[in-house]
Amino acid sequence: MARVALVTGGTRGIGAAISQALKNAGYAVAANYCGNDEAAKAFHDKTGIPVYKFDVGDAQLCETSIRKIESDIGPIDILVNNAGITRDGMFHRMTFEQWSAVLRTNLDSMFTCTRPVIEGMRERGFGRIVIISSINGQKGQMGQANYSAAKAGAIGFAKALAQENAAKGITVNVIAPGYIGTEMVQAVPEEVLKTKILPLIPVGRLGEAEEIARSVLYLAADEAGFITGSTLAVNGGQYMA
Ligand code: NDP
Repeated sequence: MARVALVTGGTRGIGAAISQALKNAGYAVAANYCGNDEAAKAFHDKTGIPVYKFDVGDAQLCETSIRKIESDIGPIDILVNNAGITRDGMFHRMTFEQWSAVLRTNLDSMFTCTRPVIEGMRERGFGRIVIISSINGQKGQMGQANYSAAKAGAIGFAKALAQENAAKGITVNVIAPGYIGTEMVQAVPEEVLKTKILPLIPVGRLGEAEEIARSVLYLAADEAGFITGSTLAVNGGQYMA
């Protein structure tokens, strides 16, 4: 039986590449999304991967949706907590709405999506939890106090959860991507990208979503059982923690 993987925010950008790579590697994959039905349909039509619409910030909805995925496909062995948003602005102008939207989607989701799967993983003695944080959670980023806080919080969460579950065959690891050429980064003005971001990346280019997907595959493997509580930087050399 194929292992079952759930990828939150798995229909676009990095998440779509992760879903596809897991499917190609033989996993049974479910991809979550939140609002963009058109993109989710296009993704489903192209990949055949089932898609599940729910807001990762809504604890009740996550619980019922994850139960539905498990009854459709099977108990979740691999959880990729990938869904994330930005609402950038300098902190002295930031609204509480900007702050809480980012904390809700990027950090509350660590609870809402992991809590419904952790007991089953513990009972079965196997689990792989991979969290997509960010370089900006490691180093901080001007204009992203909300996002940096949430992404750093996810790293702390992973380390605690890794300790709690290490003896149960469950690993919890973080990938901290640098700048990847998805819609999230395409929203950055071209001029800012050229003059402010690319010169900071020693490899000299944006990363590709597939490069993050490959890192997820590595951490999700049955053979990766001795790697837990770690943060893997995939950032073209931009920041070496
Ligand atoms: P995209 O904006 O391209 O895709 C985001 C995905 O997350 C979509 O599938 C979207 O669904 C889903 N999503 C957003 N909000 C929710 C929600 N509340 N509930 C469920 N699903 C949701 O993002 P990226 O691929 O660029 O980013 C993926 C992850 O990687 C994020 O956590 C991001 O912070 C992180 N990251 C990205 C970097 C980059 O350079 N792109 C760099 C470092 C980290 P829908 O289509 O319905 O909107």
